Amino acid sequence: MITTLTIHTTGRSAMMDVTAQVEQAVRASGATAGICQVFVPHTTAGITLNENADPDVQRDILTALDRLVPARGDYQHGEGNSPAHVKASLMGASLTLPIQDGRLLLGRWQGITFCEFDGPRQRDLVVNIVAALP
Ligand code: ZN
Repeated sequence: MITTLTIHTTGRSAMMDVTAQVEQAVRASGATAGICQVFVPHTTAGITLNENADPDVQRDILTALDRLVPARGDYQHGEGNSPAHVKASLMGASLTLPIQDGRLLLGRWQGITFCEFDGPRQRDLVVNIVAALP
């Protein structure tokens, strides 16, 4: 079962906690066990799983990515947003998460974070739920 969520990102770069929306999609599917794949169908945004309790962690990830991928450099891509493409690839485009007892089986401090690198804009987030056979 596929559900496409709409994410309105804020700022040129942003890390947005989407755990509650993905968990809602899992509940709505009725799946009690299986796999939840979260997929970003974009080339300048990504997804990651990390701490969502302290917002400084997300800020520090953005800061580290800025150090790794400078805003200006020897980039060839004519659109001018090569840093966003590189950061999106570093974060990745999908997560595969276990569903147990109708809920995402996440670690205590883990949250699903949508990563915007060329915003602000409206983005899609695909939630693909594959229920296990009873
Ligand atoms: Zn581009």
